[in-house]
Amino acid sequence: MNLQPTIQHEPSSLSHTPQQLADLYQAQQQFFAAGYTRSFTFRKNQLRVLYRAIQRHESKLMQALHEDLRKSEFESFGTEIGIVLKEISHIQQNLRGWMAHKRQSTPLMFFPSGSKIVPEPRGISLIIGPWNYPFQLIISAMANSIAAGNTIILKPSELAPATTAALSAMVEETWEEEYIAVVNGPGHLVSSQLIEPYHLDIIHFTGSTAVGKLIMQSAAKQLSPVILELGGKSPCIVAADASIEYAAKKIAFTKLMNAGQVCVSADYLLVHESIKEKLVKAIIKNIEAMHGADARQSPYYGRIINEKHLLRLQSFLADGKIVYGGEVDIADRYFSPTLMEDVAIDAPIMQQEIFGPILPIITYQTDAEALAIIERHPYPLALYVYTNNKATENFFISKVRFGGGCVNNGLIHLGNANLPLGGVGYSGMGSYHGRYGFEAFSHFKSIMRSSTLIDFPLWYAPYKKWYTTVLRKLMK
Ligand code: NAD
Repeated sequence: MNLQPTIQHEPSSLSHTPQQLADLYQAQQQFFAAGYTRSFTFRKNQLRVLYRAIQRHESKLMQALHEDLRKSEFESFGTEIGIVLKEISHIQQNLRGWMAHKRQSTPLMFFPSGSKIVPEPRGISLIIGPWNYPFQLIISAMANSIAAGNTIILKPSELAPATTAALSAMVEETWEEEYIAVVNGPGHLVSSQLIEPYHLDIIHFTGSTAVGKLIMQSAAKQLSPVILELGGKSPCIVAADASIEYAAKKIAFTKLMNAGQVCVSADYLLVHESIKEKLVKAIIKNIEAMHGADARQSPYYGRIINEKHLLRLQSFLADGKIVYGGEVDIADRYFSPTLMEDVAIDAPIMQQEIFGPILPIITYQTDAEALAIIERHPYPLALYVYTNNKATENFFISKVRFGGGCVNNGLIHLGNANLPLGGVGYSGMGSYHGRYGFEAFSHFKSIMRSSTLIDFPLWYAPYKKWYTTVLRKLMK
């Protein structure tokens, strides 16, 4: 495996010229209109094809993930490959039921009519992904879109070049562009050359809140609908009654996954002041139990995606007191596990999403005080609360508007295909995974079918007085 830092040459143009994009758009429109993607059998077969393609390419994908982010085999399989295989299996087991037309009851006033909901493919879907889970976040959404019967254009991140190349090779070798295509290159060109000129039937974007706003603006030009999976500052609260050793282990494990470059990572810790010293000691003990005193030597500790992000993270070190870590090696793209305290609530580290292995620790005395700090960055993507008290758990879950989260754990809500993954407010709109992914990529047609045997006169003018009397009764 290549242990050298990746030299990244960011592409300056798209893999497709404007003419090739026009041809691609037309080819996908025609393929969709021909109806190939509509049947259950086609979708189920394509999910099987996807599953096998991932298995065939697994070792190249794992190698690429190691090259881009130094992900260990355990992390690459668990959080990139395995999670997608599990998602596909879950879809395969449930797709027939999700696709079934759903009979609905019909108000008496429309007698003799029946009602149903018909899940339909939307058409052409565009899936744009970030660099931190460069495989999972693209391919999991793609499985949802295959299930819904769409054609697909993928736009992986240019900042994870090895994984993007491996993913592109897998897709290009497996499908014709008229069904599934990959467009590579800088994101802003995708906006100007693909999103703005063409109506896309659904855009699924995973990335930053800032770019999410740009995508929505571009999509508005053609009224293309968007699903936005964004980021934010996700709090992790440790209450006075929490099991300290347990919480420390979970926090150390989840914060350091992918070197903290996880959208649903605990961005900062809010700990009750009575247990802060004990908790910090326990977190350090657990970091060292997993990665040793020098995480640089750990085969399980990842690297930061590029120098720009390393420098961004390094600048946060000036925003408080480093109680653990704070070591940076630019050539190795290494940023050590870092705990900070005495951070000013207005400092950049508490204003921007950290997206790295730095955990600021803030103490609080009352739940209301902790809530006020969280509310400075409303609508986080995730929230975690460690407590053994139901009232404390309910307080944070009900008072804060957030995408999803865990009680006495971190991140795992994302791995359950029965739960929708999505943000709220500034952390996103719409959700996916499993049934929710099928629904997000589908359109639901409402159909009422009337019998021609009876036709009540009350609908038609001239209206007699009693028509309205009957209508009033029926519309109660
Ligand atoms: P980013 O927003 O910079 O880029 C994401 C993707 O959008 C890339 O493929 C990029 O090429 C493309 N892009 C950039 N500008 C574009 C434009 N104008 N038009 C169209 N596409 C454009 O995000 P990133 O730095 O790759 O990822 C980090 C961010 O993603 C963090 O904020 C993180 O929280 C968020 N994230 C969210 C989730 C989630 O599930 N909600 C998951 C992972 C990451």
